Amino acid sequence: MSPNDKVRVRFAPSPTGHIHLGNVRTALFNWLFARKHGGTFILRIEDTDLERSEARYETQLIEDLKWLGLDWDEGPDVGGPFPPYRQSDKMDVYKGYAERLIKERKAYYCFCTAEELERDRQQAMAEQRQPNYSGKCRNIDPAEAERRRAAGEPAAIRLQIPERPIRFHDIVRGDVEFSNEVVSDPIIVRSSGMPTYNYVVVIDDADMKITHVIRGDDHISNTPKQVAVYEALGLPVPEFAHLSTILGPDRERLSKRHGATSVASFRDMGVLPEALMNYLALLGWAPSGGDREIFSKDELIKEFDLDRVNAAPAVFDFTKLYWINRHYIKQSPPERIHQMGTEALQRAGLLPASVNGNVSGWTNGLIDLLAPYVDQLDQLPEKAKIIFNHDAAAALALPENAELFASDKTKAVMQAFAKHAVNESPLTPERFKAIMDEIKAETGAKGKDLFHPVRIMLIGSHSGPDFNKLIPLIEDGSKLELPTHVKSVHERVTEFIATQKN
Ligand code: GLU
Repeated sequence: MSPNDKVRVRFAPSPTGHIHLGNVRTALFNWLFARKHGGTFILRIEDTDLERSEARYETQLIEDLKWLGLDWDEGPDVGGPFPPYRQSDKMDVYKGYAERLIKERKAYYCFCTAEELERDRQQAMAEQRQPNYSGKCRNIDPAEAERRRAAGEPAAIRLQIPERPIRFHDIVRGDVEFSNEVVSDPIIVRSSGMPTYNYVVVIDDADMKITHVIRGDDHISNTPKQVAVYEALGLPVPEFAHLSTILGPDRERLSKRHGATSVASFRDMGVLPEALMNYLALLGWAPSGGDREIFSKDELIKEFDLDRVNAAPAVFDFTKLYWINRHYIKQSPPERIHQMGTEALQRAGLLPASVNGNVSGWTNGLIDLLAPYVDQLDQLPEKAKIIFNHDAAAALALPENAELFASDKTKAVMQAFAKHAVNESPLTPERFKAIMDEIKAETGAKGKDLFHPVRIMLIGSHSGPDFNKLIPLIEDGSKLELPTHVKSVHERVTEFIATQKN
């Protein structure tokens, strides 16, 4: 590539399922590389596997990529100078090139049946040889092949691989070489007439003037076949960069077994798109100098460099992702967190389907109170249990509270608080402070001994948000019409003392 050539890269997913994180990382690296170099990022849909491809997956992946913050300059939805951007719309083009290869005797018809190929494979295995194609149809005279085809005999088309190693350069791995035996003569068009991935990908990359093919290293053994197709067609070979595999924390290939692996599942968990983008960028790439981990989109574009992509497998660290997410939650404008938090609480059934007026104001206060304690917004309903699920019996049964309940001082504080608090409705932070001062004087308890029992009475746990924020939230919530009634301070305390007596 000469310095004047503009970078053109593509992300080429197959719409056969929900897009996996590894593929999203591939999309991101392509996008960062294009944006960094002022190049073009292309979305191409590889749907030659008609049986497994579904339009809904295409819609979903477009939605996922947009959510993450990626945009493309050419693609099935936005068009571009080299259409079509969906392989199923391009069958005639592939057919034309295959005919040309046959005519130039760089490809040939193969009449081997599936059974024959399987027999050869078994035999090779038994003889401890590589199960490569024997090449038996290579030398069929073209006129004879035409005659057999005309007579209706099914035939695939195979590319004739040259008798020499196939080499290519990989930006991540350096020089790579495959022996021609390993590559064998790959099928480029099946006997059904369907062209294969290794063939169409080359036509598309060449048609779309792709300069760099950046993709997962699961494709590395496909690359020599593709290089052979470029060479047979006399097309310029692009640069390659194969990205390492992503492993789960147990160092096995990242899969559903490890938990969330789709963009949609992270979105539903309340992971912010900029957090996921930031984290994915660090999977197999590191900026030069330092171990900085927080990067905005613009900073990533500025810093990203294919030369700093690591060939070693990257381990997906969920904890780090959530840590980064917590950073972005804290940085977000409150309105955004209010909106997302409200949705999470609605999904959990804690709020009505439409939230407005007083409920909205109160909900925002609740979210402000709890958001500092979460690193995924879908944890809010669990945290909101302190408000919605006051359960005196459960608090009394908690082993971690046992020692505290055994002390006479605790009992005295609880009794005193109950006595004072039942007369306050609603309890205000000012009155709360005054009451606590009185209890301190009455019982001699202070610090933890004074505050822990009261907090347990109110929320079931001795740790939690500041009373000044907590108490108004409880009291205001108790006056709202919500799917789950929020108990007032009065209700909580009365219930606690009653349960304790039983
Ligand atoms: N459709 C292929 C995949 O999803 C794309 C491979 C490539 O980028 O060449 O794995």
